[in-house]
Amino acid sequence: MAEKKLVLIVVDGMTPATFERAAEGGRAPALAFLADHGSYRRGTSVFPSLTPVCLSSIATGAGPGDHHIPHLVWWHRRERRIVEYGSSFAALRAAGMTQAITDTIYNMNRRHLSAEVVTVYEALDGAGLVSAAVNITCYRGHTRYVPTLPWVTKPAYGPKRFFFYGLFESDETGAPFAVRSRTAGSTDAYAAAVGRWLVTRDGFDFLAYYLSDFDYASHAHGPSGAEEVALSRVDAAVQTLLDAAGGGDEFLDRYAVVLVSDHGQTNVERGATVQDSLTRLADDVIVTASNRAGQVYLRPRARVTAADLACAFDGDPSVEVTLRREGEDAVARREGEELRFRPGGDGWETSGDAAILDHPDALARTWSALANPNAGELLLSAAEGWEFADLGGRHHVGGGSHGSLVEGDSAVPVLTVGIDAGIERITDVTPAALAYFDVS
Ligand SMILES: [Zn+2]
Repeated sequence: MAEKKLVLIVVDGMTPATFERAAEGGRAPALAFLADHGSYRRGTSVFPSLTPVCLSSIATGAGPGDHHIPHLVWWHRRERRIVEYGSSFAALRAAGMTQAITDTIYNMNRRHLSAEVVTVYEALDGAGLVSAAVNITCYRGHTRYVPTLPWVTKPAYGPKRFFFYGLFESDETGAPFAVRSRTAGSTDAYAAAVGRWLVTRDGFDFLAYYLSDFDYASHAHGPSGAEEVALSRVDAAVQTLLDAAGGGDEFLDRYAVVLVSDHGQTNVERGATVQDSLTRLADDVIVTASNRAGQVYLRPRARVTAADLACAFDGDPSVEVTLRREGEDAVARREGEELRFRPGGDGWETSGDAAILDHPDALARTWSALANPNAGELLLSAAEGWEFADLGGRHHVGGGSHGSLVEGDSAVPVLTVGIDAGIERITDVTPAALAYFDVS
């Protein structure tokens, strides 16, 4: 059995460069303290590098091909409707506010996340340990929770200790309501108040501590602007955990730590509307796009193939590469050139121009994205500097975004303290946690 308990800290959208500067400089003392005591490497996210996909990968150890969450926004083939997890307020409204909120809060975990995968909370709680989760959107567990709001009655199923933006709470902590003011960092202030309560009581074996405000700031100000605006708040939310144990050394006497982000961010200079390249084919397709990844779904009686769709994006400067399945192969297409690949004996069998997918872990990430039954027939990875407008027409031009295969969107910081785990991808986090606790 593990000697110490384990705290997983997920900082949404923090790039490796930001973490590395924080670890060296004096501006983030809590992160620097942890970095001083641990081992650090750069790791890789999944594709699309978007939060619902990434957090599901972190909490299950599976890629999107197995956990089935494909994007922030997708077409539900069986229910013949758009699922929207909150690209923007305008996108939520366009998708139908009540449905979109139900999809985000309940259905992502209860219906969309595959029953074939096991979450870290299900595994640990099932082994008699106590797992806790704060604000992380992939929360599926065995314990039933009724919302704190009297007019919402539908239950959710979470870990033994569960705190979700003040809406679901396993314990009375006195933490302030989470969503008063995103720009002022109220969501992470809620997480910190709950974290203080949990560490003070030593009330868990495993804690998933999710800080979302950094990503919010990075969308508004770009990755370097976020460092000015929000890094100190992230650090304060981590410092709160250390202080609750009586200081950094006391904290590390009790807890091992894994700190990761779910994806990176890159600067956005231009916005594009995916549908503009498909006007000729509008009757045959459904487009879902948001941030720096898009999907095109073929309607049931479409007169075109995914290969025809891919050709329609030749010459579109916003799309760096299109991705599709063709028989046994995956096909990446960029400016008329193609790369075909499939898993081989001990690696990948490829033919064509390998430079088309010269991005971190690109073949494996693409393969998993295309294996998702909820994914479109054609996937789009945006070119550097571009973003796709969402359902409400919103984008982050002048700020930052993520979602594509490029390194800036895909690389994440990985810090481990007191746990010997070769985490190279975000899908390695849950297997490392289960191995740490000797739970299969
Ligand atoms: Zn984001």
